[in-house]
Amino acid sequence: MDLYAGIMSISQSVIIHLLLSKGRYFGAALLLCIDMKEFKSFYKRVEGNEGNKCNYPTRLDTYGCGCQHNCKYCYAKSLLDFRGLWDSEKPAVATIDEKFISKLPKEVVRLGGMTDCYQPYEREIRNTRKTIKLLNKYEIPYLIVTKSAIILDDLDILNKDLAHIQITITTTDDELSKTYENASVPSERIKAVEILQEQGFDVAVRLAPFIPEFVDISQINRIKCDKITVEFLRVNPFIKQWFDIDYSKYTVKRNGYWHLPLKEKKRLVQQIDFKEMTVCEDESMAYVYWKYHFNHNPNDCCNLRR
Ligand code: SF4
Repeated sequence: MDLYAGIMSISQSVIIHLLLSKGRYFGAALLLCIDMKEFKSFYKRVEGNEGNKCNYPTRLDTYGCGCQHNCKYCYAKSLLDFRGLWDSEKPAVATIDEKFISKLPKEVVRLGGMTDCYQPYEREIRNTRKTIKLLNKYEIPYLIVTKSAIILDDLDILNKDLAHIQITITTTDDELSKTYENASVPSERIKAVEILQEQGFDVAVRLAPFIPEFVDISQINRIKCDKITVEFLRVNPFIKQWFDIDYSKYTVKRNGYWHLPLKEKKRLVQQIDFKEMTVCEDESMAYVYWKYHFNHNPNDCCNLRR
């Protein structure tokens, strides 16, 4: 899962903390019960700001309440850990059976909304593989977002008409990535992207979060893939702990996050050279700009093949 894939609104967490600090234990407990149920749910439609902007708000997690990649900056971890729901060694395995899949609407479902569906556990459990086979059977399209080259284990079952794949990269430096992510190193992820592209899959590089200091753009531009989706870093106190970068450039404050100014984002994006490029944006004013003046497909910042 990418940085922003946690589905719970941060505001709800803030309210819980606030209620606890004021001694309103019953209210906090009630809210915690409600949102723990939400966190334990493997299938959901994302709502709020993210849901309004995202063309594919339906999420299905094959694993939940933990991810072995255990990225330091993981947004989902930040929300689950303090509730005692995050297990990075043995995540929960979703019960996904044929009856459940057969009832899903025939619209794109995103695998890996809360956790990565190709974390190492998959090699043991094969729950994602089982789910993909069922989605294929019922002709339900799926969007896989992963930081893992383990996806290549499933080349034999990924359906080119149904599968859309985004492989997330946060840096081009293998050693740097090891300091904050336990996923495949970027060079392995890039190799996976190129294999999937070569085999004719609808695949994109997902540069998310895009932290300019961590990325060699000339290396990104050499990736043999037609599509890239860029999602800039947005900053809050939780994020600030993990990356040793200059935050003074993040001067635009919206919805509790600090963003780079649009002018700076445009300058950076102009250096990226792919056949098709889109920017996935959270900040409302910049979102409108990318949607109408930049994105390859204005109605779909994921730019899935139709
Ligand atoms: S890969 Fe796993 S640990 Fe990393 S951000 Fe995604 S869900 Fe969180």
